[in-house]
Amino acid sequence: GRAPLWLFGDQLGRHFHATPENRGRDVLLIESEAALARRPFHRQKLHLVLSAMRHLAGELGDRATLVRARTYREGLARFGRPVVVHEPGSHAAERLVADLIEEGLVEAELPTPGFIRSKRDFAAWADGRRRLVMEDFYRDQRRRFTVLVEPDGDPVGGTWNLDRDNREPPPHRAALGVPRAYRPREDDVDRGVRDDLDRLLRARRIGPVGVDGPRLFAATHDEAWRALRRFLTTRLASFGPHQDAMLAGDWAMSHALLSAPLNLGLLDPLAVVREAEARLRSGEAPLNSVEGFVRQILGWREWIWHLYWYLGPSYLDRNALDAHTPLPDWWRRLDPSRVSARCLRTALAGVRDRAYAHHIQRLMVLGNFALQRGFAPRALTEWFATAFVDGHPWVMPANVIGMSQYADGGVVATKPYAAGGAYINTMSDYCRDCRYDPRVRLGPDACPFTAGYWAWLDRNATRLTGNRRMARPLSGLRRLADREAVVEQERHRRRY
Ligand code: FAD
Ligand code: SF4
Repeated sequence: GRAPLWLFGDQLGRHFHATPENRGRDVLLIESEAALARRPFHRQKLHLVLSAMRHLAGELGDRATLVRARTYREGLARFGRPVVVHEPGSHAAERLVADLIEEGLVEAELPTPGFIRSKRDFAAWADGRRRLVMEDFYRDQRRRFTVLVEPDGDPVGGTWNLDRDNREPPPHRAALGVPRAYRPREDDVDRGVRDDLDRLLRARRIGPVGVDGPRLFAATHDEAWRALRRFLTTRLASFGPHQDAMLAGDWAMSHALLSAPLNLGLLDPLAVVREAEARLRSGEAPLNSVEGFVRQILGWREWIWHLYWYLGPSYLDRNALDAHTPLPDWWRRLDPSRVSARCLRTALAGVRDRAYAHHIQRLMVLGNFALQRGFAPRALTEWFATAFVDGHPWVMPANVIGMSQYADGGVVATKPYAAGGAYINTMSDYCRDCRYDPRVRLGPDACPFTAGYWAWLDRNATRLTGNRRMARPLSGLRRLADREAVVEQERHRRRY
């Protein structure tokens, strides 16, 4: 017979195991205890991955073998037959697969169907470009896969990117008021997973990061499609306008909550894009929302994946702003109890309770804070990858080192995403009930984001002078009457 197919825990969809090439192959899934215990993962993330793997093993019945082993290598040896495997999602796993091929445990590595564009194709596009710009890549993706393009190659509606229509502040309400997102129902598999994790915790084989809670994200093919359809039918239309907004009482807003099932490989990204496109044709959602969503999947998600491989492992060591602050203990333990800054407290509590925060919380609250306080980018990358339900090695470096921390000196983002309290105040309802005042930068009421922004700019003024987009903020800094006092205050601040 044909060699069995070994699936990593992020390769669980039908576009992996039910393709013509893989039909008829037996399937191997390995629960590696070393992989679970190696890093301090959020409990709900471990739950989701184990639940998804066990559900798939159950669905595939006799075709699948689920092996529990200390390491992948041990699992393969115990299984006893050489396997094929799709390209994995990290440099470390890629090295492991190469070794396993040498050792004869793996027969061949197949390309991954987890992303729309192949690595070779990306390299062909990227090689020889002076600058890697996501917008250029995105347009190329749209044309290549004919998504939201007219027959003559022009974008539907006349413009490629409607981001300008998608920056509305939140409405004056406690919640966005859109229908609730899909919630899976737990079953016996989840109960088994919960018992196993309780046991590992008691035996101190895994760290207690985050709290337990009902599973919030899809773990099977059917659940993932239900979540997708529900999003497209009830929330896509409002996805666009408030994409950058934050409300303290609404953790999900109009976001898709699909990153976890997408990153587990449960949803074929091109199928997701086509489904969204169909909602424009049927008139169910306006172009700015559909284009905005398509850009996330066909543009950003693919872009981040390819940059991970294209920029190589050394990208993780970039530290252009020379930031070395260790992550504070309360941050690592996801303990918001002593944090008064309402925006930060809300985001951190969300990570503790759900292993999730939406994009603007990640970028403009958590990432922004880390940037201002000079957290070491590599440690921060590791934190995001373990504390978030959708965190995987490939998705972090370009998002954290590049976009959020500007530690690559401008490969991914053209300017640092640093912002003071005024931005957060415009885009959220946090400041109203906060102990601090976003307009104040000195004294007991000084907003840590506003004061932190100026202190950060002061610290990095020389490094940022070459950046034209920083010229205005830097001239603002030079005119700041209380510059030294603010810098001094933030140097000694221990409470936020
Ligand atoms: P939506 O806002 O509804 O977006 C739809 C989909 O687009 C997402 O499901 C996701 O698959 C995709 N997408 C959009 N932007 C990105 C992006 N920049 N990178 C990758 N996919 C993207 N995304 C992760 O999947 N895992 C992470 O660990 C992760 N960490 C992040 C850390 C930082 C500092 C930042 C700034 C962004 C990070 N992102 C990460 C990207 C983005 O924030 C999440 O994909 C998104 O918040 C997930 O929620 P959602 O499914 O509701 O997304
Ligand atoms: Fe955050 Fe400052 Fe607003 Fe408080 S005042 S919520 S710390 S931005």
